[in-house]
Amino acid sequence: MTRVAVLGGGIVGLSVAWSLVGRGLEVVLVDAELPGRSSPVAAGMISAAAELEHGEPDLWELTSLSQRRWPEFAAALARCGGAPLQLRRTGTLLVAMDQDEEIRLDRRLRLLADAGVAAELLDRSELRRREPGIATTVRGAAWLPNDLCVERNRALNALRSALRKAGAELVEGVGRLRVTGERVVGIDVAAGTVFADHVVLSAGWRSGTAAAPGVLPTDLSGHDGIRPVKGELIDLEVAAPAVHAMIRTRVDRVPVYLVPHDDHHLTVGATSEQVGADTNPTVRAAHDLLVAATTVVPELRDAAIVAHRVGLRPAMTDNRPLLGSSPRPGLTVATGHYRHGFLLAPLTAEIVGDRVVHALSQGDLS
Ligand SMILES: Cc1cc2nc3c(=O)[nH]c(=O)nc-3n(C[C@H](O)[C@H](O)[C@H](O)COP(=O)(O)OP(=O)(O)OC[C@H]3O[C@@H](n4cnc5c(N)ncnc54)[C@H](O)[C@@H]3O)c2cc1C
Repeated sequence: MTRVAVLGGGIVGLSVAWSLVGRGLEVVLVDAELPGRSSPVAAGMISAAAELEHGEPDLWELTSLSQRRWPEFAAALARCGGAPLQLRRTGTLLVAMDQDEEIRLDRRLRLLADAGVAAELLDRSELRRREPGIATTVRGAAWLPNDLCVERNRALNALRSALRKAGAELVEGVGRLRVTGERVVGIDVAAGTVFADHVVLSAGWRSGTAAAPGVLPTDLSGHDGIRPVKGELIDLEVAAPAVHAMIRTRVDRVPVYLVPHDDHHLTVGATSEQVGADTNPTVRAAHDLLVAATTVVPELRDAAIVAHRVGLRPAMTDNRPLLGSSPRPGLTVATGHYRHGFLLAPLTAEIVGDRVVHALSQGDLS
């Protein structure tokens, strides 16, 4: 049987591994719980429209398509993983808290309209009817009804469980690509080498350091290669539901989002800083996020702080993922998902799964 080894077991490596198992391949996944992992920290928003930025049409093509794949991806995973994923269609409210933000909201609506997304403009009274917890000082909002939210740990656990049930091997340990001549032939771990006919590199922001110098291309391992973008978020517990939809806004130019997980838990996120591999939770982040959150939903002042989490997003210089590129025979890369690893998981699994099968069919066997 043809064997594929996957290095890195975050949302990307797990999703790719699952897609490879579904294509009839023998799969070994090597993963270590290293500091700065991104997937266990993510807020779980599956919201291509809310993430749409000027000048990123190629990324929009990927994110919008991947979002449409999520319901089927989650259903198949729940069937194979044995537990529902809690994928919920909460929708997103883009909220303007002051005049500047109203102008930005207007620009964003035009951008969305150009991309073919119909966002519904809500006046203040309609907004307060839907979300009574929002401050009376709010100026306006737009409603994106199709946005989804997934509980990240359920998704990660379901993927691990689906892989085990399908017979994949999950190896714990730090790995490094094994190269013979030009070819990647497996993954070295402390206990020995996992030899494979093909290897997928999906080690998040550490992907550029998972091989000896010179093995990986400079757009991954060089000075301008993949970089960590630090993100902090705060989990809160509330006595009664504070918001029903995902809320996004800026307060005094601090971007903030609220993601409700159930009636009593929500996440306030997230900072975004390029400060290297720093994983310390900071007072500044907690202060900025909580001031912004309580300005939008004042009753959050009574919430309990449950956790302050930090992750490092894997980002390429153009903020787009590196999918399937094969700098060496025997190797496929799947990394650089930046803010969108969960959103892009179904499409990444499909694209990378297809590319691996294609590489193997072209005689890419050891
Ligand atoms: C605060 C925050 C909020 C976010 N919110 C969202 C969101 O709402 N929606 C969304 O779509 N995305 C979100 N993201 C982005 C998302 O988390 C990332 O894009 C995604 O998790 C990247 O997944 P990954 O598998 O590439 O990397 P990771 O999750 O970092 O996984 C890489 C894995 O490889 C392991 N590894 C690395 N090197 C080695 C090695 N040499 N040997 C063995 N194992 C190794 C790591 O320990 C880790 O387990 C958020 C990120 C942050 C920080």
